[in-house]
Amino acid sequence: MKQSKHLNDLIDALTILPGVGKKSAQRMAYKLMRNNTEKTLNLSQKLLNVTSMVSNCKICGIYLDNEDMLMQQNDHDCHLCIAQNRDVSKICVTESPADVYTIDSSTDYKGYYFVLDGNLSPLDGRGPVEIGIKRLEARLERGNINELILATSTTIEGEATSHYVQQLSNKFNIKISRIAFGIPLNGELGYLDSDTISHAFKERKEL
Ligand SMILES: [Zn+2]
Repeated sequence: MKQSKHLNDLIDALTILPGVGKKSAQRMAYKLMRNNTEKTLNLSQKLLNVTSMVSNCKICGIYLDNEDMLMQQNDHDCHLCIAQNRDVSKICVTESPADVYTIDSSTDYKGYYFVLDGNLSPLDGRGPVEIGIKRLEARLERGNINELILATSTTIEGEATSHYVQQLSNKFNIKISRIAFGIPLNGELGYLDSDTISHAFKERKEL
C-alpha cells in the first residue's frame, strides 16, 4: 500500500530523539498531523530558531541566545565565563548544559563551569575526544583552578567519565571532589534501592 514519503521521513527524523524508537516516532508524527497546522508549524519554527539563534559558549559549553553572547575574537563567551565576581579557583564539570542551570539556580556554588559533551561510552564510539576532554584540558591548563567538582551521573558511563577526569586533574595537581549521591531529603531508607543506600553509605561524611 502506498504511504506518504514525507510522513515516513518525519518518522525517521524523530528517531534521533533520545528514547524514541520507530513506534514512538510514529505516534508523535501522527499526533503532529492531527494537531492544527498552526501548532505544528510553531514547532518547526522553534526548531529553526534554536539552530540559527542559539550558540554554545566556547569556554564552558552552555547554550545561550546569540544576542546574549559576547563575541571575543570570533568566539562566543557567556556571562558566566567572564563574570568577575565568581570564584576563579573552582570549576564544576557537568555532562549537560541543563545541569549547569540546575546547579546554578539551586546551590550557592559561585565558581566556574565546564560542560562535557555527554559521557564516555566506548561502545557508542564516544571517547575522550568526542566528549570534549581536549577542551577541558585546555581550560585546566589556563591555570588558577585548584578544585574541580565533578557533577556527572552515577551511571556506568558517568562513573567512567568521572574516573577519566579524575586522572586528568591529577596531572594538573588539581584537587578533585564529586557531588554526593544518596538519600534524598525527606526520604525514607526503606524506599531506596540497595545501590543508592550502598553509595550513600560509602560516601558518608564525618559530623
Ligand atoms: Zn561560558
